[in-house]
Amino acid sequence: MKVSNTSLSTFRDCPYKYYLTSILRIEPLTKSWPLIDGSIFHKAIENYYRLTDANPDQPIAMTDLLNNCIIWRKKKIEDLTTNELVALDTVEREYAKADLPYSDYHKHLVMGMVAGYTLLYPSNEFEEMKPEYATSVILEDYELRIRVDNLVKDAHGHWWVYEYKTTSEDSKERFLDRMLMDWQPYLYTYVLKRLGIDCVGVIYPVMKKPKFYKGLLESDGGFNKRLCKSLIDDALKEQKYFYREPIFKSPDDMVDFEVSLMAMLKDLKFHTLEFLWVQNRNRCFDRREPCEFMAICKESNPYLREECIKTQFKKRI
Ligand code: SF4
Repeated sequence: MKVSNTSLSTFRDCPYKYYLTSILRIEPLTKSWPLIDGSIFHKAIENYYRLTDANPDQPIAMTDLLNNCIIWRKKKIEDLTTNELVALDTVEREYAKADLPYSDYHKHLVMGMVAGYTLLYPSNEFEEMKPEYATSVILEDYELRIRVDNLVKDAHGHWWVYEYKTTSEDSKERFLDRMLMDWQPYLYTYVLKRLGIDCVGVIYPVMKKPKFYKGLLESDGGFNKRLCKSLIDDALKEQKYFYREPIFKSPDDMVDFEVSLMAMLKDLKFHTLEFLWVQNRNRCFDRREPCEFMAICKESNPYLREECIKTQFKKRI
């Protein structure tokens, strides 16, 4: 059976949610904006490091936003590397494909984040890079798979997992405390070490989404531009919205982690054999957002619950 960081943390949070996502393999028909923005940001930065999906020979879609964005970065188009241009262009193209209400606001937000990120962190700053690195290990009855945003080698020859994070969390300290205690850095470091890769931890480049309000007399277009420009200005000056934190994991951390991981896999096997998918209602409002499966869990009538799954959810591909 295959498991991943996401499926294991889902099981730990709520076994019933694990059943919906990993056994029934369903997801809501419509994706939330944080998910859409996060995936477009990831795609743009992936293209920044690896010009594969985006064809650098394909003409760049030079829209007003892209033009303004280049000017706000205090650069001319000829000063930008192909990687920088392709990353910005990816945002334009992906939001054009999404074509949803409010796309324009989200396009400006993510364009600002990508423009700021590429200003601060050059695409060739690491000795070696493996974008979208995927691998797995066999642990008892399970294949534990990981796919990391990037695997990078620093100037001292150490490998680090490099995971981009976009967040609405206001407090940098609270966000970092959460990442410090999260399973993700443990699990990634553990799997890579088991495969003989000398990985010392995870570097998190974090992009904080600004909380801006539209002025009474401000147009939508003016507000969107102000949002994008503020992110670029911040990258040039204060860097309130951009920071990068390494989280180191020691060999002792790995020993403790292995014990918890094995216990969790045993627990998962027991739940699977007993078909014991209990709901953990303490996790229904994590991070202030309602769980995306709440419509199913609110229904106590099994027939209506089935109907809800059929009409409001789809099979994950
Ligand atoms: S709504 Fe609550 S009980 Fe239902 S799957 Fe989500 S977290 Fe679990």
